[in-house]
Amino acid sequence: MSFSQTYTRSQGANGNSESSNGAQIQLQGRLLGIKNNIQAANEIIDQAVQSCTVAALDLEEMDDPEKVDDIDVAFRSLLDSQHQLELEQSLLSKAATHQDPETAAAEYSSARDEMLAKYSKLSDSHKYGNNQQYCEFRQQLWDLKHEGEPMPNLFGPAEEGNEDEDDLVIAGARLTYKCPITASWLTDPVTSKVCKHSFSRDAIVDYIRGHRGSCPCPVGGCSHRIQLRDLHQDKVLERKVANHLRKLEAEESSAAYTFVQ
Ligand SMILES: [Zn+2]
Repeated sequence: MSFSQTYTRSQGANGNSESSNGAQIQLQGRLLGIKNNIQAANEIIDQAVQSCTVAALDLEEMDDPEKVDDIDVAFRSLLDSQHQLELEQSLLSKAATHQDPETAAAEYSSARDEMLAKYSKLSDSHKYGNNQQYCEFRQQLWDLKHEGEPMPNLFGPAEEGNEDEDDLVIAGARLTYKCPITASWLTDPVTSKVCKHSFSRDAIVDYIRGHRGSCPCPVGGCSHRIQLRDLHQDKVLERKVANHLRKLEAEESSAAYTFVQ
């Protein structure tokens, strides 16, 4: 249900000034409800993004480029939905601060339409090229068969005015496969939604419990606090760790073979 519908309903039931205070409270309650729904939808999208990544890597291994492309399209549309939800969330927060619900609803609708129209006109490079999840997804696909080779630019030559320094950092984001708590390889990794740091599940769960439910992030220099509910299972990372370990094992056994010879 959209914000404007919610608003219309609450007006219909409380259209006179005597109960306008009640209407205001009711409206705030409904806005909060919508925000919670958006949050839930965002979490479902995160899971779908992970499933897409795992499926695409399997298909890439099985040499099925057409199906990998299908998943790429699905991945991008998930990112579009995510963008839209983020937009709605920020507009709703803004709308909730208005005293007059009618102005709030009108502002919300026009800002939403304007921003969605703007987004739809962006190039793919702008929409996805700066998206960390998408860049990591493509990088993993590339690494499966081109380990050690630099990945070509996904969207052709860099566009003018798109040379943000942040992009470079994102594209070259370094990932570590060891748990910052145990200093061993990640097992059953979970990633914090608040700061994106990852841990072995048992280690961080014990750590958080030891801190009575909320701990400062154990990663040096990270200023976030983490609670159990901030952690999500990270199947993609689990796969990366497994691949990395397989590679190390292969290197070791080939080194041993050379030595014996
Ligand atoms: Zn952190």
